[in-house]
This record gives sequence, structure tokens and C-alpha cells, in this order.
Amino acid sequence: MAPGTRWHATLIAGCDGFHGICRDAIPARLQTVWETSYPYAWLGILAGVPPSTDELIYCHHPAGFALHSLRSPQLSRLYLQVPPDEEIAAWPDDRIWAELQRRFALPGWELKEGPVLEKGIITMRSFVSSPMRYGRLFLAGDAAHIVPPTGAKGLNWRWPTLPCWPAPWSACWPEAAPSLPMPTPIRASTGSGGPRISPGG
Ligand SMILES: Cc1cc2nc3c(=O)[nH]c(=O)nc-3n(C[C@H](O)[C@H](O)[C@H](O)COP(=O)(O)OP(=O)(O)OC[C@H]3O[C@@H](n4cnc5c(N)ncnc54)[C@H](O)[C@@H]3O)c2cc1C
Repeated sequence: MAPGTRWHATLIAGCDGFHGICRDAIPARLQTVWETSYPYAWLGILAGVPPSTDELIYCHHPAGFALHSLRSPQLSRLYLQVPPDEEIAAWPDDRIWAELQRRFALPGWELKEGPVLEKGIITMRSFVSSPMRYGRLFLAGDAAHIVPPTGAKGLNWRWPTLPCWPAPWSACWPEAAPSLPMPTPIRASTGSGGPRISPGG
């Protein structure tokens, strides 16, 4: 698209993530934001090793939480709870695996290790911006809300957003209503009957 191109749209899906431009198109005087930061972070790695389990493992350990999740038959994703101001430079791969082994230690079970393909520290926060609709603009996903990364939170959280919009798409666009995937009400909270996708994390 050439710079300066102007598009006219019947509807705008504001699904451009937390740092996108759509949420800021809603006048600040109309916006209310709820935000909470949590006093810990997650150090996450993507490891080139088959998952050590066929289900998620949420680990409760005196040293902090740990999570083993699955990405593919050859990829695992693992997390360690760390202080919120932790620096990733303080965590060479050997230290990460040693801490994962310590927290996940269970007689008769083995945590498989492999090359660390990615690593980073994710701060934990919750963020919700309201309204999620402004005229023809509909916010969805991280543009409207972020929650800490519990299991598969992205899709499970976003999908119930849709019926929360004050008017469904069909009300704005009646000629297209028969083809719009909106008719089934989904209760607007996770864990209460909406679709759930796993694995997450
Ligand atoms: C480390 C990590 C692990 C995660 N694991 C999981 C998981 O296991 N399961 C899960 O469900 N969720 C997970 N999440 C959360 C999930 O990634 C997000 O909730 C989800 O990606 C949000 O999707 P989105 O489409 O709203 O925003 P995004 O994924 O941020 O996508 C927004 C898109 O809009 C584009 N964009 C931005 N601005 C503009 C612009 N001006 N013009 C055009 N395009 C623009 C961006 O380039 C981007 O492609 C994880 C997040 C992190 C950080």
C-alpha cells in the first residue's frame, strides 16, 4: 500500500495488538483502562527437545512457579517464575536447566533437556481497556486486553470478547449478517463454557 493511501471501510477490526494504533483512535476522554502489574515475571524458553509430557505441568515449588508446555513433537516451552526486575543476562542456559530440573524434580520422571532456541523475561500484568467498540471500530485481542499467560489465554480470552461488544457486527452490517459467525452467545468469562484450546503458556 502506498504511503498516504486512504481506505474507506464499513467495519474496522482493531486487532493490531497492544502497541497498535487502533485503541488510540478512541478519544482518551471516553476510555477507561484497568491495569494491574504483578510482583513477579516469567522467564520463558523455547527448547529444541520433544516435550517430556503429553500434558501441561504447572509446578508449585518453594522457589517459585514453573510451567512445562508443549509446542510441537520436537519443541517444548518452559517457564520459571523470577523476580520482576530479573535480567535475562543473569540466566545462562545451564542455570535455566538446573533451575528447571530443581523445580520439576519428581522420582521416576525425567525432564528432557535440549538447545535453548529462544529465551526472554515476560512481565506479568492484566490490562483491559473500555469501550471495545467506537463507532465502526471494534477492538479485539491484545489491543483491548491482556491477561497473564495462563494456559492458552490468548484465544480463550479473545473469543468471549466478541459478544461483549455493545452491538454485534450484524447490527452494523445487516446485509452481511447471515455470513457472520456471531449468533451463538458465549459466556463472557474463561472457564465457563467457551471453547478452550490447549496446550497454552
Ligand atoms: C512469550 C509469549 C507466549 C505466549 N503464549 C501463548 C499461548 O501459548 N497461548 C495463547 O493463547 N497466547 C499466548 N500468548 C499471548 C498471545 O501471543 C497474544 O494474546 C496474541 O498474540 C494476541 O494476538 P493479537 O492478534 O491480538 O495481537 P498480536 O499477536 O500482537 O498481533 C498484532 C498484529 O498487528 C500488527 N500491527 C500492529 N500495528 C499495525 C499497524 N499499524 N498496521 C498494520 N499491522 C499492525 C502486528 O505487526 C501484529 O502482526 C503468549 C504471549 C507471549 C508474549
